[in-house]
Amino acid sequence: MANNPIKAVKGVKDILPADATLWREVERRARAQFARFGFKEIVLPIFEKTEVFVKGVGEETDIVQKEMYTFQDQGGESLTLRPEGTASCVRAFIEHSMYHPPGTITKLYYFGPMFRRERPQAGRFRQFYQIGAELFGALEPEADAEAIHLLWLFIQSINIKGPRLYLNSLGCDTCRPPFRAALVNFLTARKERLCETCQGRYQRNPLRVFDCKAQGCQQVMTEAPTIDKHYCPDCQAHFDRVKKGLEALAIPYELNSRMVRGLDYYNRTVFEVTAEGLGSQNSIAGGGRYDDLIKNSGGPAVPAIGFALGVERLLESIGTPLEFSPGHPDVFIVYMEAAADEAFRIAGRLRRTGIAVEKAFKPASLKNQMGKADKSGARFALIIGEEELATRTAILKNLKNSTQQPIPLANLEESLTGLLTS
Ligand SMILES: [Zn+2]
Ligand SMILES: [Zn+2]
Repeated sequence: MANNPIKAVKGVKDILPADATLWREVERRARAQFARFGFKEIVLPIFEKTEVFVKGVGEETDIVQKEMYTFQDQGGESLTLRPEGTASCVRAFIEHSMYHPPGTITKLYYFGPMFRRERPQAGRFRQFYQIGAELFGALEPEADAEAIHLLWLFIQSINIKGPRLYLNSLGCDTCRPPFRAALVNFLTARKERLCETCQGRYQRNPLRVFDCKAQGCQQVMTEAPTIDKHYCPDCQAHFDRVKKGLEALAIPYELNSRMVRGLDYYNRTVFEVTAEGLGSQNSIAGGGRYDDLIKNSGGPAVPAIGFALGVERLLESIGTPLEFSPGHPDVFIVYMEAAADEAFRIAGRLRRTGIAVEKAFKPASLKNQMGKADKSGARFALIIGEEELATRTAILKNLKNSTQQPIPLANLEESLTGLLTS
């Protein structure tokens, strides 16, 4: 029978060990930045009740209409693999009453896979990884500036090539209706030039047309009215203070009054970071304020702001390679057949004390083993032959400078720990 090995699902990939070390390093640097700003990790479930996303992300979004992995489980409940993190985070925030006592500021971050059935293309995956952060409880524009600062410092800490920060405000329930009306008027007059999807949705959700990739729609939108002419005094004041905050923190930004972000829940500040070398889909991070989502999801009126980064695209945009230790062994044990039992026991002893040990299961020639020791990146080779066994003294070779010294087997743990930490 022909044996066709099963392959991974289309648009889904393995992260092999060589890449995984870089992933973990990026994650480590993100955690370091989150700690500076007082954010704490939340580990969220990978699937939720479908309504969490339909209500949270918005019925009119591409995500909900076309891209979700939704299924019925054996109990007949409709469940969905999370397409993004904010809706789940809000669900958890409400479920665990994290808003108590009133005035509490809650800062959360998460890592993990998200799922969207997008058309597979370069840098886009159906299971992709995000790093996200949400700040609950602050209405102040300084919270917006601090969230952006956190994002900006992280992006710099991983050497992203040519990052650019775009900023906009989407206004509020006071200033949006007149803007919407102006936009719907504008689009009605140009209806025939819109794509089929936009013709169907522009009256219910005219902002979505800004996000449409169809050429006709993009052309129409270059002349469309923009929100910045419609801000109410409060939104204008908020946005001015966000900009002032960014200037005080020395974060360069560019205004883009056509940027609406692909999600329905945003109000006021929205932002996006792009990087060089990614082509037309050059966004690596985005976020914004969502002051009504918690209330609309059944919780109290708690303002919030957040952002998310796509890990795959981040990794593609790293310029100068990150310097980090990729996890080499500390010691490589090289041994002769006669010393096999002793080498096995020594490996166990050293690992119990926390030393990372590599050794062959079956000893090849000394030369072969020394070659492997060199290649492993280990700091030391511990060499045990018949003679070393008889004298209870191994040879310790420093693989970085090729010096060697005898080392008694009796208190190997202590002497090696001393050498490794010196
Ligand atoms: Zn407003
Ligand atoms: Zn369109």
